[in-house]
Amino acid sequence: METMNQPSKQTELLRAIQQKDSYNKFCVDCNKNESTHCSVTFGILICEECAGKHLELLGMELSYVKPLYQDVWDTFQIKLLENGGNKKFWDFIKQYNMELKDINAKFNSNPIKYYKKRLFALAQGVEFNQEQPPRNAEEILNRGVDGAKNLGKKAGEGIMKFGGLVGEKFEQSGVKEKFKGLFKKSND
Ligand SMILES: [Zn+2]
Repeated sequence: METMNQPSKQTELLRAIQQKDSYNKFCVDCNKNESTHCSVTFGILICEECAGKHLELLGMELSYVKPLYQDVWDTFQIKLLENGGNKKFWDFIKQYNMELKDINAKFNSNPIKYYKKRLFALAQGVEFNQEQPPRNAEEILNRGVDGAKNLGKKAGEGIMKFGGLVGEKFEQSGVKEKFKGLFKKSND
């Protein structure tokens, strides 16, 4: 593959990020191959094979993928990678038992949408106050009750969503299906 002219300073910087820890050296999606690409959107390093899956299943709008060393990066893209990284991402998705989920289920989930927003705020250096999505059924139900009580001004996007989980709607709406992963844990 022919390489584009990546400034050598960028190559150095990116190499340093990739070598920072063993998490970044390997693909955070398959945990098998060495990282060669990056999903800029999520600040993670992935392999060529998984980069292809991101393109195919998610598309550039959902996951902006680029090779680590054959492209020119802008400052903000590098900031996303510096503020993100595979370990942070891995630790986050582990809280939701999503580390082994397929790409579609993982990257289309609410927790990951939250993660992306938080990462962007971090990279921009702006404050971020949104509450993290609940990690298990208990948290969902607790917040559902709270959400129903406060549904209004104070309720963040997450609570608004989970406010609807209280009572019968919960069973009927099919929302439960969406959180299968979370419920699976509680039913074990
Ligand atoms: Zn991979």
